[in-house]
Amino acid sequence: MQRALYSHLASEQGDSPEDSLRSNQHLSALIRFVTSAIDVVSVDELLWLLTGDVVADLGFEDCIIYLVDPTTGKLVQRAAYGPKNRGGHEVTDPIELDFDQGIVGRCARTQATILIDDLSSERDYVVDDAVRASELAVPILHEGHTVGVIDSEHSSVGFYTRQHIGTLQALASIISTKYAKGRTLDELRDTITELEESRLLQQALFDIAELTHTTPTLDDFYQRMHEIVGRLIPSDALFVCIMAADNSVLAFPYCYDATAGGYVDIEIPSERFASSLAAQLVLSGKARLLQQEEISELARTSLVLREGDIPFSWLGVPFVNEDVRGGIVVQNMQSSSAFSSTDLDLLTYAARQLSITITRRQKDAALRYQALHDELTGLPNRLLFGDRLEHALERYKRDRSRELAVMFLDLDRFKLINDAYGHSIGDQLLTEVSARIEKCLRGVDTLSRLGGDEFAILLEDVQTDGEMEALAQRIIEVVGEPVVLEGVVLNTSASVGIAKASDDCDVADELMKLADNAMYRAKARGKARFDFSGREDGTFINVLRIEQEIADALRREEFDLYLQPVLSLKTRVVQGFEALIRWKHPARGLVMPDSFIDVAEKSGQITEIDDYMLERAARVLSAWPQADEHAPYINVNLSGNSLSLPNLASSVSNLVQRHGLDPQRLAIEITERALIISIDQARENLQALKNYGCPIVLDDFGTGYSSLSYLQQLPIDVVKIDRSFVSTVQSSHTSHSVVKAIVSLAHTLEMQCLAEGIEQPEQEATLIELGVELAQGFRYFPPMPLAEAFHFAQR
Ligand code: C2E
Ligand code: CA
Ligand code: CA
Repeated sequence: MQRALYSHLASEQGDSPEDSLRSNQHLSALIRFVTSAIDVVSVDELLWLLTGDVVADLGFEDCIIYLVDPTTGKLVQRAAYGPKNRGGHEVTDPIELDFDQGIVGRCARTQATILIDDLSSERDYVVDDAVRASELAVPILHEGHTVGVIDSEHSSVGFYTRQHIGTLQALASIISTKYAKGRTLDELRDTITELEESRLLQQALFDIAELTHTTPTLDDFYQRMHEIVGRLIPSDALFVCIMAADNSVLAFPYCYDATAGGYVDIEIPSERFASSLAAQLVLSGKARLLQQEEISELARTSLVLREGDIPFSWLGVPFVNEDVRGGIVVQNMQSSSAFSSTDLDLLTYAARQLSITITRRQKDAALRYQALHDELTGLPNRLLFGDRLEHALERYKRDRSRELAVMFLDLDRFKLINDAYGHSIGDQLLTEVSARIEKCLRGVDTLSRLGGDEFAILLEDVQTDGEMEALAQRIIEVVGEPVVLEGVVLNTSASVGIAKASDDCDVADELMKLADNAMYRAKARGKARFDFSGREDGTFINVLRIEQEIADALRREEFDLYLQPVLSLKTRVVQGFEALIRWKHPARGLVMPDSFIDVAEKSGQITEIDDYMLERAARVLSAWPQADEHAPYINVNLSGNSLSLPNLASSVSNLVQRHGLDPQRLAIEITERALIISIDQARENLQALKNYGCPIVLDDFGTGYSSLSYLQQLPIDVVKIDRSFVSTVQSSHTSHSVVKAIVSLAHTLEMQCLAEGIEQPEQEATLIELGVELAQGFRYFPPMPLAEAFHFAQR
């Protein structure tokens, strides 16, 4: 740029070559000096440098530099040489010009250099300090915009030469450079501020997500949430409100109001809902961000806000789920701190997390009951029974004067009845039988349904074998009496096994096993009988378990691998697949995983299934072309059980080597839930797999199981956003916010995002907009058999 100018000036005609050379050398030295000074001086200092040192050498009478004021859009005199500067960095009597006003204005508008040799015939001429004869105006341009004008006037007609023009143009370009740098610096500063803000926001999101896991009570949750939210959204008041189930009252379990002096205890009865913004918020279920004008308008035209002080800015976010409806509200009384839509996003996230926490706490209580009781009969289940037995054994060990016994009871022919008459009859029979047994017992005894048609009774404080025999006999009798259900007469009977605690056996599990064995012996001896443990006659009965069927399926290779393509959202190109299991059942046809994975997890057979699927996936990959870097990968789902095996990583690496695979092609997909089973072992395994080269995908993300800090600790490559968010990303503001937060967190941690279960084009569009990279769903392809998937693998 400067070089071009230099040569342009050098080719100047009219001056002697010597003059030209001197002048140019002088000028180029100055330009070099000024350019180096660009970095150290401010715009104004630079302008004064140019108007001082440079212009003086050109024989000018005056020179004024105008810059456009970004707020008014007017041309303002910022530096001057000559009569308009009487010393110091100050323009004397500065004037402002509109674009188009005078020759300077025209220069600014047309962005062209204007040279007027004789001003006497010029109508546009604006007289500033004195009337002169000729004028030269050069625009200062930056990225196609006029940012200013350098203007010079002279008392002689035809004073300005082409060399003058070149010089002023050079100065203009220097100023423009400075302008660009200054701007870039400002932009950089803005960006840094933005980055800092988004870092704080992300930290807050992390912290809020953690609260569910780290706060022991809801009160703690509110308190901590207030602290975190307060870091980013300073407010005079923050409160959490919850609507009573019958809409009779709006409670405020947390209400902090600085203007009222701190924590406030309030509730709003339904009569006053109409005048409460908070009640309106919860009832409408719509988030609301209100500023002063709207607030005063509302207070004037409607019932709301008729009571109390009127805030300047009000932001409320509701939360709704099956169990609770409520909201979080912040408000400010001062004009200096209005809330923004970013604040809305953060508060929405906090509200969602709060609602998860409330639901979880409620469910925990319900679950605790469910976890300990049999759903059908309401009796204590195996777990609670085991617990009571442990306690009873503790007492027994302290005081052996009282006997302690466990009675096992199993209905004979129950399975036949169930198969013949259906589950409903079967269930009624179990309920009736348990009621009959209970009538035989004393208050201190515990009757439990262990599962199916198995019951157990804990007998404390029995004196003799005779008492126990009598009880067993009575139970066998009452159970043996016919049961009439829906007009059908049913006959069943019970086999009972009894085991007594003794010096040799005072461990719960053993006692249970002994009673169980005694019961089987009774059954084997002809049903409707009882037997005591310790009175064995040498026969041992092998107990087969229901998991037999899965074991058979594994052996007969009835499990099959289906593949669902994973695409790049941007290019729609298939990147890889998720391996999904299907059971080709000889009688029931294609069985979906949801109906057997749970059973397999409980029985532990899931690790065999996982092994099997890994092996199948490896075989598929080795059969596919995998030379180039675009070769597809396969994500294999692993259960929590597998993740907690100490040798998982080594068996995967063996597998990869055995099939000669690139480990990058075999990705491991885990769920948040699976991590929880044994987090330390899981972390170790994942780290080892990751080191080995297998990518890690975190499935069902966002369902709230794990704490986000896991994410940071684990070597995760891809976060799979749970289908429940994808399906509602359009319809629910909360889902939208959550997905946004997940994407932003994932990207901060340098993970990719995969959205699963995409079905609609609109979902796709929103997910693209939110920055999600990968996609899976029926919109593209369902899970398909290997032969079909093969077409996509060959690209
Ligand atoms: P997942 O890992 O979350 O798998 C995604 C499920 O969503 C699959 O169900 C898939 O067929 C289904 N899906 C995919 N796209 C869509 C869509 O657009 N809309 C809807 N509504 N559904 C879609 P699938 O195959 O029935 O598997 C269910 C679950 O069983 C899996 O959930 C996974 O947790 C488990 N599972 C499946 N295969 C295996 C396996 O080999 N090992 C283990 N441990 N678990 C498996
Ligand atoms: Ca999965
Ligand atoms: Ca999933």
